[in-house]
Amino acid sequence: MLDADFFHRWMTAAAALVSREADHLTELDSAIGDADHGSNMERGFAAVTAALGKEPPQTPGAVLVLAGRQLISTVGGASGPLYGTLLRRTGKSLGDASAVTPEQLAEALGAGVASVAQLGGAQAGDKTMLDALLPAAEALGTSFEAAKEAAEAGALATVPMQARKGRASYLGERSIGHKDPGAMSSALLVAALAETGA
Ligand code: ADP
Ligand code: MG
Ligand code: MG
Repeated sequence: MLDADFFHRWMTAAAALVSREADHLTELDSAIGDADHGSNMERGFAAVTAALGKEPPQTPGAVLVLAGRQLISTVGGASGPLYGTLLRRTGKSLGDASAVTPEQLAEALGAGVASVAQLGGAQAGDKTMLDALLPAAEALGTSFEAAKEAAEAGALATVPMQARKGRASYLGERSIGHKDPGAMSSALLVAALAETGA
């Protein structure tokens, strides 16, 4: 069973990975965006860990809802509301259970990813975070490690895609040949989950 402490540790691991890879995320965003994805994510997850540390929520759902709220309020740009929605909706789907099974998390994450698609209007193949999140949520039914591998493969698969959503879509064909920064940060979130579950 995964309790509130597990989810807290997941968010802490995500913050550490995002911070370690911030320059890389910004580099990717400088090729097809406005070079702020690393700093956006680093600022957002620093706020998440600060808020969680101040008053640790008592349920898995409450951890993710609080984390999502922090991302929405501290991250400017497209990714803040999208990641905020992902975590809030996943958290709400977990309800107020004091611990959840990996299967329940997989199902809740599926609902979270669906709300990202609804909010942003993107689908698989549009070269966004969804290209990592959709396969990860599906593979999470198998294992954390499978989800991590699916997210990484999904992020890598964005390289030859032409962006159809977000800032990168303004580049048209020139967006081809670069990895999507949001797909990479999504892979980091899932890698942090696998690290926490290992
Ligand atoms: P901004 O583009 O506002 O500067 P960020 O650089 O923080 O925001 O985030 C960019 C990432 O957000 C993209 O790489 C992409 O993965 C994701 N993104 C942008 N628009 C959408 C959308 N409509 N649906 C899903 N993801 C999106
Ligand atoms: Mg950007
Ligand atoms: Mg921006």
